Amino acid sequence: MLVLLDDGRLIVAKSYAFNPHVRGFISRLNRLGFAHTVQHADLSVVMGYYSGQQVQERHSDMQMAAKNLFEKAVALRASDIHIRVSKRLRTQIFFRIHNDLEFVEEYSFDYGEKLCSTIYQAMADVSDSTFEHMSRQDARISEKSKIPINLDGIRIATSPQVDGYIMVLRLLYNDTSSDLDLVKLGYEQFQSDSIEYMKKKPTGVMIIGGPTGSGKSTTLQRVLGSIIHETQGRKHIITVEDPPEYPIPGAVQTPVANADTEEARSKEFQKAIKAAMRLDPDIIMLSEVRDNPTARLVVQAAMTGHQVWTTVHANSALAIIDRLRDLGVHADLLTDPTVIGGLICQRLVKQLCPHCKAPLTENLGRYDERDIKRFMHVLHMDKVFIQGDGCDQCRGSGTMGRTVVAETVMTDNELMKYIKNGDRLAALNYVRQQGVMSMLDHAIKKINLGIVDPFQAEDIVGVLNAGLTEK
Ligand SMILES: [Zn+2]
Repeated sequence: MLVLLDDGRLIVAKSYAFNPHVRGFISRLNRLGFAHTVQHADLSVVMGYYSGQQVQERHSDMQMAAKNLFEKAVALRASDIHIRVSKRLRTQIFFRIHNDLEFVEEYSFDYGEKLCSTIYQAMADVSDSTFEHMSRQDARISEKSKIPINLDGIRIATSPQVDGYIMVLRLLYNDTSSDLDLVKLGYEQFQSDSIEYMKKKPTGVMIIGGPTGSGKSTTLQRVLGSIIHETQGRKHIITVEDPPEYPIPGAVQTPVANADTEEARSKEFQKAIKAAMRLDPDIIMLSEVRDNPTARLVVQAAMTGHQVWTTVHANSALAIIDRLRDLGVHADLLTDPTVIGGLICQRLVKQLCPHCKAPLTENLGRYDERDIKRFMHVLHMDKVFIQGDGCDQCRGSGTMGRTVVAETVMTDNELMKYIKNGDRLAALNYVRQQGVMSMLDHAIKKINLGIVDPFQAEDIVGVLNAGLTEK
C-alpha cells in the first residue's frame, strides 16, 4: 500500500489513500515527528519499489558466486564458461580450456536459474533487461568491479535448449593486446612479412579464412593494433563488429545492433558498414562476411579507396576466392589484385607440453601400422613427439595453449590470371613458386619440430600426406 523511502518521500498507492492502515501509518509518522512528504502514485509504482529491492538483495549473493566462478575460470586460463541449465540434468558448469570443454561443477536447477538471471540482469551492461530463457539474448559485462582484473569484459550469449537453456560466457582477456607480434601466435617470419606487405597496400580487401574458433579475431586485433602503433594514430580505423570482441585502442569500434533473425542481423550489418563508410575511414574492419549484401559492400569499400580487413569461413587461402564467388561477388572484381589484396587462412593446433611429451618412436606399438606408414612419408619420425600422460605443469592435460598453422597469399596479376581462367593447379603451383607454405606444410613443420602431436594436427588440417592443400 505504501513505501517510505530514505529521502523522506512516502509513496502511497492512490487506491489505498483512505485505507485505515495507511492513515494510521501517516499519523504515527506525524506523532514521531518524522519528516516526510506524501506522494500519491499508482499501485504498480509502489510495488515496483519492493520488487526492485528484492531483486537486488537476491542478486548480491549470487553476484559474489558469479564473480568467484569468473576468477576460477581466469586462474585456469579458460576461454569460455558454459552454464547448462536443464530440468532433467540440473545445472552443469564447464570451462573451455585449450579448446576442450572440461566439466567443473554441478548445481540444482534453481541455482542455475538464479546464477544466469543475476549475470544477465544485475551484471551485464544492458539496462532494463529481463532474462528470458526462451529467447536468444546477447549481452556483455564490462564494468570493472564485476569482472576479474585480467579481463576486459565478458561476452554473454544465451539460447534455449530442449528442457532448459545454455549460457555461454566468453572471457575477453586484456593481456592479449600487449603483444602485437604475429610470430608469437605461431606465424612463420615470412608469413608475418607478407601480412606486413598487405598492411602497406593503400586499398583492397585482406581476408582471413577459417572456421569459428580458429583465432581469426586475435590475428585481426593484432594487425589493426600494429597499424595504429606504427602510424601513431594517423589512420582512421573503424570496425564493424558483431559484437566487438577485444578493445583496439585507437580504433573506433562500432557494434552491430542485436537482432532476432538472420535477416534482421544482416540488415543491421549493412547499415553499420554504410555508416562506417560515411565516417571518412582509411581502414575498415568488418568482423565477418557472411552473405551477399555484406560481401558486395566490402568489395565496394575497397573500390572506393579503403583498406578493408575481414574474415570468412573458408578452408584454404585460395578457397576464400571461391567462397566470395559463392556469395555473389562478380568474377572480374574477385580477380583484381587491387580489390582482393591478400588471402590468409589459419587454424589453431594444440601445443604439446614440453615437460611430459613422449617420442613417437618409443610408442609405435600404440598406433595403427597404416598411420605410421603414412607419417613415414612426410615426417622425420625420430623428431616427432606425441601427447604425454600429463604432468603438474600442464594440469594433467598434456598440452599447453595453441599455436597457429597458416598460409598467407599475396595476390598479383599473374596469380589472378590463373584464377580467372579457372586453372587451380597453375594457381597453386605459382603460389608455391613464390615460397608460400600451405597450412598442411606448416603443420608438418611444427610436428617435425616436436611441438605438435601429428594425430591432433590431422584432426585440424586433414591427412598429412595429402600433398597440396586444395580445399
Ligand atoms: Zn605436461
